Amino acid sequence: MGDSWEALKRECAGCRECALCQTRHSVVFGIGNPKAEILLVGEGPGANEDQQGIPFVGRAGQLLDDMLAIIGLDRTKVYIANIVKCRPPENRDPLNVEQEACIGYLRRQIALLRPKILVCLGRIAAMRLMDPKLRITKDHGVWYDVDGMRMMAMYHPSALLRDPGKRPEAFDDLKALQREIGRICEHTEADWRKL
Ligand code: SF4
Repeated sequence: MGDSWEALKRECAGCRECALCQTRHSVVFGIGNPKAEILLVGEGPGANEDQQGIPFVGRAGQLLDDMLAIIGLDRTKVYIANIVKCRPPENRDPLNVEQEACIGYLRRQIALLRPKILVCLGRIAAMRLMDPKLRITKDHGVWYDVDGMRMMAMYHPSALLRDPGKRPEAFDDLKALQREIGRICEHTEADWRKL
């Protein structure tokens, strides 16, 4: 039998495949439109996300929403997920062993969604999905072709909050994303109202 969003979400909600299950409050599965052509992937939930069970809430989430709005997007037109679904304590980077344990869920989300564009938010997602040697300061905004998707890394919104000097570069990357959406995505505003 084929995979489904419901089955995947149910499995994920009960997951105890890595040690992050011991300290999590919620499993943060992902959110957005299951017919979206654009998938945004961050590294993992923070404290607010863990409490609410929703990715990218709090100040970083607000900034992400503002960034999406600049190019005419919102959470009804994209899908948002993370490399690991449970919060690493003290907001540390997810360990390789945790990423390995969890990445299968994201792979299944990708298989169900089949996005045209995947945007990695921050270096952890970009190194895991695009290139282990990727350096976010140098390689953000560069398009890669991976598994039939167009992929680009951008700065994580938390990094933009810590260092507002990076925002002009993030703006350029957003405009590049907007151009690529215009080039290869098919959904129109009318489609979105129906989806
Ligand atoms: S982080 Fe992923 S693999 Fe680890 S317990 Fe949570 S859902 Fe399971």
